[in-house]
Amino acid sequence: MFSPQRLEFSAKTLFPANVQFRKGYNLLPRLKIWEQRLKSVVDIMNRRQVAALALFVFCCLGFIGSMWLIRTPNQDGDGTDNPEGDGFVIVSELVHNIILMIGDGNGVGQLNATRKSLGAPLFVDSFPIQDLIYTFSLSGLITDSAAAATALACGIQTWNGVVGMSSVGMAHRTILEFAELINKSTGLVTTSRLTHATPACFASHVQDRNQESLIGQQMLFEHEIEVLLGGGRTMLQPFFSGAVAAGYTIVENRSQLLDSSDDAKLLGLFKHSHMSYEAERNASLEPSLAEMANLTIQSLARNPEGFFLMIEGGRIDHACHDNNITNTVGDGLAFNDAVDVALQFAEEDGQTLLIVTADHETGGLWVNTTSPELDVEWSTTGHTGDRVPFFIFSPDLSIIPEMDHHTDMGRFLFRAFGYVETADGKIIQSVYRELLTRQILGIFEQDRLYSTIKIRVLDI
Ligand SMILES: [Zn+2]
Repeated sequence: MFSPQRLEFSAKTLFPANVQFRKGYNLLPRLKIWEQRLKSVVDIMNRRQVAALALFVFCCLGFIGSMWLIRTPNQDGDGTDNPEGDGFVIVSELVHNIILMIGDGNGVGQLNATRKSLGAPLFVDSFPIQDLIYTFSLSGLITDSAAAATALACGIQTWNGVVGMSSVGMAHRTILEFAELINKSTGLVTTSRLTHATPACFASHVQDRNQESLIGQQMLFEHEIEVLLGGGRTMLQPFFSGAVAAGYTIVENRSQLLDSSDDAKLLGLFKHSHMSYEAERNASLEPSLAEMANLTIQSLARNPEGFFLMIEGGRIDHACHDNNITNTVGDGLAFNDAVDVALQFAEEDGQTLLIVTADHETGGLWVNTTSPELDVEWSTTGHTGDRVPFFIFSPDLSIIPEMDHHTDMGRFLFRAFGYVETADGKIIQSVYRELLTRQILGIFEQDRLYSTIKIRVLDI
């Protein structure tokens, strides 16, 4: 309840001790003065808020500017490289050549079906390192060929459908582009269209894998790829004159391929779209995957600086989407023959790293290994999130790191060619930048990135 005593107490508390308060004193004018003082303080605060807001906007602009400056190392928005940049150092290469073989959709079940059909071990079964690897993308557990091949080609995770670009749309250097930078020869061989997702991720940077015309132009005109073999003639036909001007000899059937000159760059397009399944291939028109692999390896190996080659069994995936075990096995066996060619070269060469893997599993294929017949079940017509097998043949097994995910494999490919990203030799810039980006976007995978940093720092 209000009382004069309480008012006296409050007023004495409110005003300085030397202000005398007496009974009957009219507080109102005094409070008005204080009200004015408070208003002026609020005005000042308002001005300060405006100033604080301006400062905040300034800081935001500064932050955006610095994010631009610290974007993907030495990569301009157009994907061009800056070899003079300080974002990486090139140390001694661990291997001279890399052959990366990707069986599209070629999971554990597909390999089992191919083994059963062959009635013998596959060539990969003799490889000294055999393991399983995760394939998931930023879009979820189930990747597509674009995100998976970007992980392998660039060592980064991205969204399904994105080709050679990071999660925030930055073009990222691919292992093929790095090989070009250090004067190695390069090649892409596939049974799918050359502009299809898997080969595209090694030699182009687009937001959507369906931008195949743009992919084709980047592949032909923004790189110096010595050998390009596969399907997809219709997609690339508009660029034939430009390709010839860029130094390519164009071949369109098997005999032209086998007769092609050793000197020119080679663009082989053997079908209007994807090449035929192995079981349906007209051998007089279309070369086998093993023939394409052999010719390409022989051509690239002439460069004393070494080479990078990606070979894809691209249609295993399509057969699995159709749940067609005949074509799955047929193209699996053709892929196995190509592995034989690559393995023979790697064994003789002694300085070639050969990795055979899949980008993802397709079809959820299960093989009854207890049955003498080829008894299989499919669980889907799409991709699955299963881990996929990988097999490594290397002249030095001690250089192979532990690899849990495709991005680990992609980063290792760079390291194998002597690429180390660095800032003051202490921390890996690209990983740090990705960490920063992911923290900002809230898609930060703490354990993976921290462990990656630890491994890579130890690498130095
Ligand atoms: Zn697929």
